[in-house]
Amino acid sequence: MALIVQKFGGTSVADPEKIHRAARRAIREKMNGRQVVMVVSAMGKTTDKLLALAGEITSNPPKRELDMLLTTGEQVSIALMAMAIHAAGHEAISLTAAQVALVTDSVHTQARNRKISRERLSAELDSGRIVIVDGFQGIDAQGELTTLGRGASDTTAAALAAVLGAEVCEIYTDVDGVYSADPRVVPQARKMDAISYDEMLEMAAAGAKVMHSRAIEFAKKYDVPIHVRSSLTDQEGTMIIAEAPGMESISVRGATLKEDLATIVLTRVPNTPGVAAEVFAEVARNHLLVDDIIQNFYDDGQHANIGFSTNATQAQEALEVCQRMAAQRGFGGVELDRTVAKVSVVGIGMRSHAGVASTMFSALAAARINIHSISTSEIVISCIVPQQDGPRALQVVHAAFGLDKPPPTDP
Ligand code: ADP
Ligand code: ASP
Ligand code: MG
Repeated sequence: MALIVQKFGGTSVADPEKIHRAARRAIREKMNGRQVVMVVSAMGKTTDKLLALAGEITSNPPKRELDMLLTTGEQVSIALMAMAIHAAGHEAISLTAAQVALVTDSVHTQARNRKISRERLSAELDSGRIVIVDGFQGIDAQGELTTLGRGASDTTAAALAAVLGAEVCEIYTDVDGVYSADPRVVPQARKMDAISYDEMLEMAAAGAKVMHSRAIEFAKKYDVPIHVRSSLTDQEGTMIIAEAPGMESISVRGATLKEDLATIVLTRVPNTPGVAAEVFAEVARNHLLVDDIIQNFYDDGQHANIGFSTNATQAQEALEVCQRMAAQRGFGGVELDRTVAKVSVVGIGMRSHAGVASTMFSALAAARINIHSISTSEIVISCIVPQQDGPRALQVVHAAFGLDKPPPTDP
């Protein structure tokens, strides 16, 4: 029997009326003969409020207890959603990640999925119920509750879609699709009909909040199409799919801005074999997220400054880890900069088009925006810029690649 996963983000379940609306969507699919799994986020800004509440108790809450707190947000939503479906005369059951045995590792607040058991899910679906699972959480091998990182309800949805062989994973949100840039920052941004997994993965990793990057990893690996669409209309949104012919004809398809970023640099590190390995082994042991690696040499190559960019939420922890390391190993010191942002351009067409980097750098130069550091991969070019220039950097880069104009392939 055909199966669909529908994920509803915080704004799409923000009040009782929206919950009823989401319930009606799921019921409609059920009535069309499909099995339906819903994944829901905490209502509105609940997760932010819970984090703020923890902050009022202590500036350094134990991560296990943070997870205990944050998981409550989604639990409210799943219960209310099940009630809404019952009220409409249909069968539904809410299940926590623990009840469906959505097993993760034990890295509290940043856990990763390890295994999902299909048994309970399949049994409930086969008995004709709509199954509602709480997003962004799991249970580790010791039975502790974990969360998968901010925005990770998308990942729960994609992982369930992969395990259950869903024909599509629908992501209902407050925009009607994936745009060439965040439409809140670039009003001229255009909605795309389709985008490849690789491009969406890079855009998500580079700050396009509309999708959680690990969701795309699952979808790509198991070839599940993702449909990002608005919870307020029936309009078609954006399909995230395997690369299709023609997608490479355009060099840059999207631009992104990551503002919740900090850079942390160890100074005066001896430039000898093995030092970078030691530094990043320590970083990994402390579960610090590394965004881009920054390295430069001086003293005729005798010393280096080695560092990385990371999420702003991890900046303090990264600082402490690096300060310990610098003291133990006799490095010069540690520099933390919280006033940075990263602007990136993404496109699989970059593989076959020249001049992308120069167009980007020229656009930033013309806008008098200074570039702190640059990183590139096959389909991405990123520049770290002063945070205050971030939105303007995104706007000028977006315009420089003509992303506000219809793509040449459009009729
Ligand atoms: P949800 O709560 O439904 O998960 P999010 O707030 O996580 O929603 O993601 C939706 C938001 O992502 C939009 O409101 C939009 O401002 C932002 N966004 C960032 N980049 C993009 C983009 N390229 N296309 C569409 N939306 C984007
Ligand atoms: N409620 C969580 C958050 O706000 C997870 C999600 O919405 O995807 O990050
Ligand atoms: Mg989200």
